[in-house]
Amino acid sequence: MAHLSNRVNSLSESQTIAMARKSRELKAKGVDIISLSLGEPDFATPDVIKEFAKKAIDDNYSYYTHVSGYVELREAICEKFKRDNNLTYTADEIVVSTGAKQSIANAVLCLINEGDEVIVPAPFWVSYLEILKLAGGTPIIVNTGIESDFKITPEQLKKAITPKTRLLMISTPCNPTGSVYSKAELNALAEVIVQYPELYILSDEIYEHINFVGGHESFAQFDFIKDRVITINGVSKGFAMTGWRGGILAAPKWIAQACDKMQGQFTSATCSITQKAMHKAMQLDYNTYIKPMRDQFLKRRDLVLSLMKDIVGLKTNIPQGAFYVYPEISYYFGKSNGDYKITSGTDLSMYLLDVAHVALVPGAAFGEDNYIRFSYATSEDVLREALKRMKVALDALK
Ligand code: PMP
Ligand code: GLU
Repeated sequence: MAHLSNRVNSLSESQTIAMARKSRELKAKGVDIISLSLGEPDFATPDVIKEFAKKAIDDNYSYYTHVSGYVELREAICEKFKRDNNLTYTADEIVVSTGAKQSIANAVLCLINEGDEVIVPAPFWVSYLEILKLAGGTPIIVNTGIESDFKITPEQLKKAITPKTRLLMISTPCNPTGSVYSKAELNALAEVIVQYPELYILSDEIYEHINFVGGHESFAQFDFIKDRVITINGVSKGFAMTGWRGGILAAPKWIAQACDKMQGQFTSATCSITQKAMHKAMQLDYNTYIKPMRDQFLKRRDLVLSLMKDIVGLKTNIPQGAFYVYPEISYYFGKSNGDYKITSGTDLSMYLLDVAHVALVPGAAFGEDNYIRFSYATSEDVLREALKRMKVALDALK
């Protein structure tokens, strides 16, 4: 490692990606692994999107575009924000990237200086802290807890703010807990934020369309703080387009321009064909194309929650969005099957991988090692088999 930079040496590998890699390696060796580690829809990208992208290839839409995405695409994104979220943005406030992950990195690299404090409610999505580390930001982690459905309260937020605080990073619907902030809850947080003019919000809304409680609520809807909100979205989750790599950032023009400049030195625009596919996605009718996938996720969530009732040591909230469950597992601490002794979520994940051949992600990746996360973005048959295997293995711990 002597010749690698301190920067990369200090970075942890993405645990979701690491678990996915481990399960792929075991599968390649012939082990019958069920992988519930990586969060991605198992559905195919809708045909209408694929057809539109194929035509773009045939039409030779193969040149560099504007770094932030071609203008008509950004206009279509503005129309989406108006139609779905009642948010008014103009094309110069939108930056299209290679995924929500890049959009988040752009925003953090543009807004955070060495030593700036960033409030991150835990559990948080796996990449937030590592991206912050790259920017030299200091994460201020606020633990939420299952009792409050893992949502940060206005009091907790206020207590965490110091003169150095620059950003709040939050996801709704939340990965890994599936918690969804209501309009009233966001409003209460916004009322605190408005008192601190130096404080910005990165609102990660990538799971917008996988919501079981009704309408999605955006932070940017509150006019009194909209000029400090960076809205992150994309096509990976709601449109089953993880591999296409299309992310969206909407923010005040000066932030969007900075992100365009940052992205212009790293990747330039995302793939021109992906942009065409995103353009189509922005225009799709929710009820025809997206709701059927969301309904499947809801059915699977209910199946998983009902199967989990038979497993004594998995304590969970009821996820209201996204496609993960995030059970608390400390019941198993100190227990053993003879070979494995469980003292953490990481131990339990390794045990379930080796013994039950089910891959999941330790809660440590999301800030708390007495939890595990698994994705239910797979078929009901696979989920039944996974939960059966987990029950046998977990019941064997004494
Ligand atoms: N934010 C959250 C909360 C996520 O779960 C993911 C999943 N990858 C991302 C951002 C990044 O998504 P993308 O595939 O668009 O980079
Ligand atoms: N967001 C997904 C997850 O949390 C994909 C993995 C990743 O991008 O790190 O599993």
